[in-house]
Amino acid sequence: MKQVSNSQESILVSACLLGVNCRYDGKNAYNKQVAARLRNKNIIFACPEQLGGLTTPRSRNIIVGDRVINENGSDVTDNFIRGAKEFIKIARMFRVKKLILKSRSPACGKRGIVTKLLPKKFKVEYKK
Ligand code: SF4
Repeated sequence: MKQVSNSQESILVSACLLGVNCRYDGKNAYNKQVAARLRNKNIIFACPEQLGGLTTPRSRNIIVGDRVINENGSDVTDNFIRGAKEFIKIARMFRVKKLILKSRSPACGKRGIVTKLLPKKFKVEYKK
């Protein structure tokens, strides 16, 4: 997690979109447009799956009903819930109103656990 600059509102961003190698495969999902847009903005970035205690690299995870299951068949829902709660706690700590999240992720995506637990007052933009 990192915060830069001061006065303006902070935006919470999925860390992998900014080039942090926190994805399940140990890689990132760097999005050049997002990074360029956020230059000189107050940004905080974090990875909910890491915040939930999962390792990097880690098994691939998918949402099955209301659970999250990894490719070995283990139920990792508790890790995802813990990480999402920590991520949302960070949003509150820094009075974030807007989040930019990685789409198609079991944590950050539109059907992900962060989105599921995130109060409606937060504005969210999803990026590939
Ligand atoms: S949990 Fe979110 S921040 Fe972490 S790797 Fe997945 S999409 Fe990126």
